[in-house]
Amino acid sequence: MSVSTGNIFIVVAPSGAGKTSLVAALLKAATDVELSVSFTTRAPRAGEVDGQHYHFVSREAFEGMIAAGDFLEYAEVYGNYYGTSARWIRSRIAAGHDILLEIDWQGARQVRKVFPEAIGIFILPPSLEVLASRLRGRGTDSTEVVDRRLAEARAEIALLGEYDYAVVNDEFELACTDLLSVVRAVQLRTPRQCQRLASVLTQMQAAS
Ligand code: 5GP
Repeated sequence: MSVSTGNIFIVVAPSGAGKTSLVAALLKAATDVELSVSFTTRAPRAGEVDGQHYHFVSREAFEGMIAAGDFLEYAEVYGNYYGTSARWIRSRIAAGHDILLEIDWQGARQVRKVFPEAIGIFILPPSLEVLASRLRGRGTDSTEVVDRRLAEARAEIALLGEYDYAVVNDEFELACTDLLSVVRAVQLRTPRQCQRLASVLTQMQAAS
């Protein structure tokens, strides 16, 4: 990656680990990080806005986009397609913007094949017991669905070694700080800082 391209942050978590709330808090604190809005074939939930939470499209439209090579990655999750626009990602990072992808583990793998320098962050629940009680507490899913999500969570947690950072979401504020710390540390890497601070550094280095 040349120094002028932006960072790609990929945030992955098992269902119920609190990823969406953490990412929302991160984006509020790190206003220079942009969220990639995925395409999906699932129906909008109450309060979800087309173009803001997702681009909601039909299965036919999504399959047409697959055939056209429009996706950087895509996967089928719980019976629906989800995918990331290749064009949007490439244009934003080429313009030097940092972007964040909130996607599943299959998508994370595909993105890191294309962009091995992308930063993978895994959100862990403090324990399986806590995860189970969070999933049950939602009250929206049957026991079978909760059990299936717990089995999937165990399988996803087994892949933790594929990620660069692991943030435990036990106490929400602390997890937010940890996530923001990861993002800030990456943004403060010297190659990026040298580029961002080029003119002031030229001046400081000339003065010495
Ligand atoms: P939900 O339907 O609850 O919004 O999302 C279900 C799962 O799909 C979550 O794990 C979410 O991170 C994942 N997901 C959302 N967008 C994408 C995407 O563009 N690509 C992939 N691979 N997964 C996605």
